[in-house]
Amino acid sequence: MEVSKRLKQIPPYVFAQIDQKRQALVAQGIDVINLGIGDPDGPTPSHIVETAKQALDNPVNHHYPPFGGMMEYKEAISSWFSSRFNVNLNPKTQITSLIGSKEGLHNTIMAYIDSGDLALIPDPAYPVYRTSTILAGGETYFMNLSEENDFLPDLEAIPQNVLNSAKLMLLNYPNNPTAAIADLAFFEKVIHLAKKHDILIAHDLAYSEMTFDNYKAPSILEVKGANEYAIELHSLSKTYNMTGWRIGFLVGNENSVKAIASLKSNVDTDIFKVVQLAAIKALTGPMDHIQTCNDIYVSRRNLAINELKKLGWGDIKPNKATFYMWLKVPKSMTSADFCTKMLEEAHIVVPPGTAYGPYGEGYFRISLCVSEARLKEAFARMKAKNIYFDNTSVASR
Ligand SMILES: *Cc1c(COP(=O)(O)O)cnc(C)c1O
Repeated sequence: MEVSKRLKQIPPYVFAQIDQKRQALVAQGIDVINLGIGDPDGPTPSHIVETAKQALDNPVNHHYPPFGGMMEYKEAISSWFSSRFNVNLNPKTQITSLIGSKEGLHNTIMAYIDSGDLALIPDPAYPVYRTSTILAGGETYFMNLSEENDFLPDLEAIPQNVLNSAKLMLLNYPNNPTAAIADLAFFEKVIHLAKKHDILIAHDLAYSEMTFDNYKAPSILEVKGANEYAIELHSLSKTYNMTGWRIGFLVGNENSVKAIASLKSNVDTDIFKVVQLAAIKALTGPMDHIQTCNDIYVSRRNLAINELKKLGWGDIKPNKATFYMWLKVPKSMTSADFCTKMLEEAHIVVPPGTAYGPYGEGYFRISLCVSEARLKEAFARMKAKNIYFDNTSVASR
């Protein structure tokens, strides 16, 4: 049977090819270091796990959960949001649960993009923005995130006709894959633009708490009047080491919350109550593990910067957020060539920048989700295989 045209339109998954090669090496008994995945290596904090264990024993929690999330969950989100961002959200109208923000991003796009509608998408970016727009039949306009502009989209460079026809803009700060951050002044400009051109802003704030060196990430909803034009997607995945639990939430504009919740009620039946109760515990319980994890990421980051310097990557700015490092590949190599070399010669998985969009050419991403010992081993392998910033290209051609 033919698959749908919709599915056929999706570009081949870049990671699939890399993963095939990785598996082939593993099958030969080779120890491959995976610096490719963005999944915290630490466990979910025990007070959250314990809450889930107890909830699991209560048969009340074995039934269908309410659509849009348990009221207690939405109330916990509302209190967390007001203490964290000083923004008050009505739990009844401005919050809906998500089965992780990936699902929420897809359904946000499905709720707003019809065939031919235009979405403004950063490039490089988390691949879902683009693929879900394609699945919806929409058109994409790519906003180049360039190093010269601190990996923020140059809002003035977007043509007027594009702004006039765009329905939706996706943003993500702290950013995956570039680790860039945005301040409130940037979000103010975004909201101003949204107002002028009637564009819905969907801000993906998956890394809100993974920030370092005294930097605290703002919510776009802190901007005055933002609630009229913006929604924000949050996730417990990265903050609480809960990637496997599948839980997040969407907040902001009432009409959008209602529309997305309505679409979702036709597609899924919300989140296992046990997981929601664990999430309530996460949002209301002790938060000290966040600092502990961030200290670990900072320490790995500093190690990586030091080791990479020895390998010729001289001008790395320490990232103030996320467990990613967005690095230049050696000059005369493509991202794909470099990542193939890393895998085949040093047995290290790193995704090429182009996995996140064409403007990612010239870069690769490192995830700091492995121990310092493992990171050291990775850099030692690069040295042993002569993979330097300056001479890799010479050696490979
Ligand atoms: C990890 C990640 C997500 C997905 O988070 P889930 O809540 O686990 O679905 C969304 N956006 C970005 C940018 C991410 O890096």
